[in-house]
Amino acid sequence: MTDTNEEFDAVVIGAGFAGIYMLHKLREQGLKCRLFEAGDGPGGAWYWNRYPGARCDSESYFYCYFFSDEILQEWTWSERFPAQPEIERYLNFVADRLDLRKDMSFGARVSSTVYDEASRRWTVETDAGHKVTARYVVTAIGGLTSTASNLPNIPGIGDYKGEWYHTGHWPKDGVDFTGKRVGVLGTGSTGIQAVPVIAQTAGHLTVFQRTPAYIMPAKNHPLTEEYNAEIKANYPTIRDNVRTHWGGQPYDAPAYTFAELSLDEATRLQEEYWNNGGLRVIQLFKDARTPEVREFQEEFFRRKVRSIVKDPAKAEILEPKGYPMGAKRIALDTNYYETFNLPHVDVVDVRKTPITRITEKGIMVGETEYPLDIIVFATGYDAVTGPFRAMDIRGRGGIRMYDKLDDGPRSYVGMAFAGFPNLLAVSGVPASIEHDVEWIAALIEHAEKNGYKAVEPTQEAEDAWTEETQAKAAGSLFDQADSWQYGSNVPGKPRRFLLWLGGLNVFRERCDEVANEGYKGFTFAR
Ligand code: NAP
Repeated sequence: MTDTNEEFDAVVIGAGFAGIYMLHKLREQGLKCRLFEAGDGPGGAWYWNRYPGARCDSESYFYCYFFSDEILQEWTWSERFPAQPEIERYLNFVADRLDLRKDMSFGARVSSTVYDEASRRWTVETDAGHKVTARYVVTAIGGLTSTASNLPNIPGIGDYKGEWYHTGHWPKDGVDFTGKRVGVLGTGSTGIQAVPVIAQTAGHLTVFQRTPAYIMPAKNHPLTEEYNAEIKANYPTIRDNVRTHWGGQPYDAPAYTFAELSLDEATRLQEEYWNNGGLRVIQLFKDARTPEVREFQEEFFRRKVRSIVKDPAKAEILEPKGYPMGAKRIALDTNYYETFNLPHVDVVDVRKTPITRITEKGIMVGETEYPLDIIVFATGYDAVTGPFRAMDIRGRGGIRMYDKLDDGPRSYVGMAFAGFPNLLAVSGVPASIEHDVEWIAALIEHAEKNGYKAVEPTQEAEDAWTEETQAKAAGSLFDQADSWQYGSNVPGKPRRFLLWLGGLNVFRERCDEVANEGYKGFTFAR
């Protein structure tokens, strides 16, 4: 169906966690809506990221929607850390449960969205031929998106004659690695998940590592009926804990003070947490930010690598070092280090000897050519600003979002942009997404009830928020490494922090404050 020239109250872009809930919420408020999604089904990041081993690093019981008690009770997760297919099934389930499909167009990538000041409407066009108008546009395009995947600009990349894939838009039919010489470039959260699975069938696997990540064991396992019943009974408490926790995780605060423990006792506890797995591995000490704790934990994790990886030369390369733990995202693995004990799996340190070029046959490191049948780029994304700049978004007076975000992220409360009336944005992880969706829905309801036709933040409010966001990151751990969070994974991208580092709980309070003070920082026009 092509909705040519159809008029909507709101267009939502993207059918991931954010878009699905946004569509539901706005429809509930009586708005006539249309959602456009490039993939051919719901899922968003979990539609595109179907690379081998793709799995969530958050535990399933809180990597989900909390807004509907029915959905919480009706859906049952099968694993502690759900794999991509299960999350994709979950999002399909929610879309069906809320009867959303009739208002969704799949296989439709939004190419442009342009504001007309006279009619106060947006014209939205897709590469599938849709051209519709709407009063509101909500982007739910995610911060780490297939449209903005980061393919390194290594010389000769176009010469390569073998197969190559970026993990962020993995073929639906999968890739057959059987007996092939495979190279994986990139050892962030994605590469670390893909390597052990690719190694199962590849003839030979070479991992090209620039920065060794700090990696904790996931210790994933199936969930029992009893466990799920207990979780379902406790959802009200879990929901409250997610909403009041700094990072949106319903975990207890760290229980121990390192400074009060003997080294043996601290090591025993750290071992216990390691064996339990998950991101909690590093969340046991109240005084975690002191240099003593950091040194203790970093060395503990290096010892772990040395104890798992039998070849000391490989272990030396894989040991995390060169930056403080936490300055780049910590990853969870299942058998990552163990995989390097297989005789057909190698790791090459491309920090020590950089990649010089990609050839017809493979990857050249220094003077050594590694012939490869398949290259997997697990090289991440032009995060947060990239997906916005990949779309032609034009606001008042034809100003382009592409230009606005040229020297880094700019927004008011992460959701609105000066010069772009009625354009609102949701992204993040489910815990923050639910908040943003509800906050945006309330803002729109406020505008509708009061007969406002256009709502937009002031330049001053946007400037202040943008600067505050940068100030929160300055001097933080993230400041001590290159990462996608700082935009420093993309050559030429300005080093500006792309996320809010002030805590999700504080963010909620700040947004409440804006709303309670009559949406301070916004202007409304009739
Ligand atoms: P990433 O964290 O940006 O990692 C990209 C990797 O590619 C890094 O190891 C990077 O090395 C390397 N790389 C990039 N360009 C390179 C070049 N020119 N030469 C050599 N190496 C290069 O990307 P990602 O692993 O896709 O993860 C992105 C984010 O997605 C994660 O941080 C996480 O938020 C999310 N994610 C979540 C999950 C989950 O929940 N389970 C799974 C996957 C991803 P350097 O470090 O040296 O730059």
